Amino acid sequence: MELYVAGGCSEHGRNSFLVTGKKVSFLVDAGVMKEKPDEPWPKLRAEQIRNIDYLFLTHCHADHAGALRWLFERGFRGRVIASRATLCFLSGKIPGASALEDYAKPLREFRLDDGLSVTWGRSGHCIGSVWFLFRVRERRILFSGDYEERSIAYKCDKIRDVSADIAVLDCAYGFESETADAHRKAIAEKLDEIRKRGTPALFPVPAHGRGLDILRLLAERGMPAVLPASIADEYRSLKDRRLWLKREFLDLTKDLRYSEIEEFGKGQGSPGKQPSPEGLGPAGILVRDSQLSDAVSREYADRVIAEGGDVILTGKQDPASYARKLLNDGKAGFFRISVHENEEEMLRLMKRNSFRVVIPYHCREELTFKKKKIRVLVPGDRVRF
Ligand SMILES: [Zn+2]
Ligand SMILES: [Zn+2]
Repeated sequence: MELYVAGGCSEHGRNSFLVTGKKVSFLVDAGVMKEKPDEPWPKLRAEQIRNIDYLFLTHCHADHAGALRWLFERGFRGRVIASRATLCFLSGKIPGASALEDYAKPLREFRLDDGLSVTWGRSGHCIGSVWFLFRVRERRILFSGDYEERSIAYKCDKIRDVSADIAVLDCAYGFESETADAHRKAIAEKLDEIRKRGTPALFPVPAHGRGLDILRLLAERGMPAVLPASIADEYRSLKDRRLWLKREFLDLTKDLRYSEIEEFGKGQGSPGKQPSPEGLGPAGILVRDSQLSDAVSREYADRVIAEGGDVILTGKQDPASYARKLLNDGKAGFFRISVHENEEEMLRLMKRNSFRVVIPYHCREELTFKKKKIRVLVPGDRVRF
């Protein structure tokens, strides 16, 4: 068997890994790297793409699934397999896809044609996010996907007692030492301060993911939320997503007070139609535009700041984004909501399982790891196993 890194190692974005055996060839994720417009797509030749039998998607985020159309345009004819929620979020973009849940429950192995056996588990990163363990005869390779064991919203089937020849593990937070719990404490204190002050806070969030963690933090404090229609829709349908959400999360958020507003961000909405930040009091406003790339959300962020409110960033900012600019100018605060692993957590995962070779992915720059079995790769690298 051979693992070929098409993207996602020593860079942030275009996660994509090709595994090839005698009888079967499959791709795990097909992401786009938005911050590198000159090299956004996975490093795959048309011939490699044509020979792929299966594409497994760990979740719906663009750095894992944003190259789907590109892949089909280049001759991909294989079968796409992902959780039903992931397929639903990517709706209309995938011909002939199959839902993981139709093959097997979490942690139960199922077998496809060509001798490929697959086990999946929930990875705690967002609704529909999974990890995969693949087996072809006695060869095993594990992909953690974007992985967080301690999410306050999402269920995680912890990866334990797994033997694998290769494990490709999330290490997006690199050598940052703070834990998920420390991050949660910091943002909780910030929200308490905002509640006392009586001003609103704007949270730019991605389409699926950290928004739900924020809803829980607001609900715990009895703070109301202001939600654009798409987030409100998602919020109302949470009870149908029990497979992915923790019970205490559902219990806590069912009493959330929220008001629904017109969609804004990502080319939708108009600046005049958003609620005035002046009259809102201590509410959390969510906008589905994590980088504040849309003119309407930028303008709204400025209004919130001008009224003495806060703009709170919770994830990575692209270097050229307005979110980064506000942070650099001291106008926005950064409070991480942990949705990935750091090096320490990755090492812990190694201890609790038996991996012969570990390949960290999602690390932005080349990191030097002390452990011998950790191999730092770059796109284009191959490993036989
Ligand atoms: Zn993700
Ligand atoms: Zn990712």
